[in-house]
Amino acid sequence: NRQFRLAARPVGMPKPTDWQLTEEALAPLQDGEVRVRVLYLSLDPAMRGWMNEGKSYIRPVAIGEVMRAGGIGVVEASNSPHVAVGDTLTGSFGVQQYWTGPVDAKAAAAMKIDPALAPLPAWLNVLGMPGMTAYFGLTDIGQPKAGETVVVSAAAGAVGATVGQVAKQLGCRAVGIAGGPDKCRYVVEELGFDACIDYKAGDVPAGLKQHCPQGVDVYFDNVGGDILDAVLARINLKARIVICGAISQYNNTTPVRGPANYLSLLVNRARMEGMVVFDYAARYPEGVQRLGAWLQAGAIKSREHVVEGLDHFPDALAMLFEGKNFGKLVLKVTDD
Ligand code: NDP
Repeated sequence: NRQFRLAARPVGMPKPTDWQLTEEALAPLQDGEVRVRVLYLSLDPAMRGWMNEGKSYIRPVAIGEVMRAGGIGVVEASNSPHVAVGDTLTGSFGVQQYWTGPVDAKAAAAMKIDPALAPLPAWLNVLGMPGMTAYFGLTDIGQPKAGETVVVSAAAGAVGATVGQVAKQLGCRAVGIAGGPDKCRYVVEELGFDACIDYKAGDVPAGLKQHCPQGVDVYFDNVGGDILDAVLARINLKARIVICGAISQYNNTTPVRGPANYLSLLVNRARMEGMVVFDYAARYPEGVQRLGAWLQAGAIKSREHVVEGLDHFPDALAMLFEGKNFGKLVLKVTDD
C-alpha cells in the first residue's frame, strides 16, 4: 500500500520535502472493517489548511500521518454487514492505494454511492463535497431570490462552477470571476453564466460595474484578497456574502489579509457569513437528489480535470494554487 504522509509543516507553497512516500503491507481486516481499493482522490484547496498546525474546523493532519483526502473506491474485502465486495464507496480514504476501516450502519466513515447515476469523478465534484458546498452555501447562506445578481469567484473551478449554474437554475443573474480567457469563455458559453470577468486581464472593479448594473446581491467568495474588496464596493442593501474560502491567502507567509472595504457591510446593512460544508452532512442526500436531477436533465455540467497516478500527488495539488486545474481536480489512483 503506497501512501503519501505529511513529513513537515509547509511554509508558503508545499515543497516536495514536505511529503514522504511510504509503502506498507496491508493489515488483516478486523470485525466490521472493509478494504477499499482507491480509484479516485479529490484534491482540494482545503488540504493546504489541514497541513497547518492550529485550531480550525477540523484537526490538522499530524506529522507522519497519511494525508487526508476524500475519495472513491471499490470494496475488495468486507467484514461489515453493511457493504459487499464490489460496492462503490466514497469516504475520507487518504492519499493511498488502499483504505481499511469500519463501515457501520450510519455510514460515518464511508458511504455507498450509485455509480449508475453519474461517472465516478462527478461523485467528487457536483455530486460530492464541492457540489454540496456550492448548493448549501448558496441556498442556505446566500439565499438568492430570482432576479438577483449572484457573483462567484474561482468560477471555472469545482465549487464556483456549480454555484453559478445553480444560481441560473434559481432564476438569478450569474456573474463569474476567473483567471484567463479560456476559463471565462467556458464559464459563459458552456456553463451559461451571464458574464465572466477575467481578473488576470486587469480591472475587476470595472468588470463588476459593467456586468452587475443592478449591483451585487450575493457574493460567493472562494478567493478573498483584492477580489473580495472589489465586490464589497458594489454590494446592494442587505447583500449576503458567503465566506466559502480564500485561496489567494492560503500560502501566505504573512497573516491573512481581511477586507479593507468591510464598512460597506455597515453602509449596506449587509452580512458576511462563513460556511463549512461538513455542517450539512445530514442533508447531503437532499443535495445529491437536487443536483443529480439537474445533472441528469443536462441542466448543469460537471467538469473534472483528471491527473493520473498516485505519485503525481504533490505536483497535482500545487496546480490548484497556480490556477492550472480546469474543472474539479481529481487524482486517478487505479483503473475502475
Ligand atoms: P477550484 O477547482 O476552484 O480550484 C482552485 C482555483 O482557485 C484555481 O483553479 C484558480 O482559478 C483559483 N485561484 C488560485 N489562486 C488564486 C488567487 N491567488 N486568486 C484568485 N483565484 C485563485 O477549487 P475548489 O472549487 O475545490 O475550491 C474553491 C474554494 O472553495 C477554495 O477556497 C476552497 O478552500 C473552498 N472550499 C470551501 C469549503 C467549505 O466548506 N467552506 C468546501 C470546499 C471548498 P483561476 O484560474 O480562475 O485563478
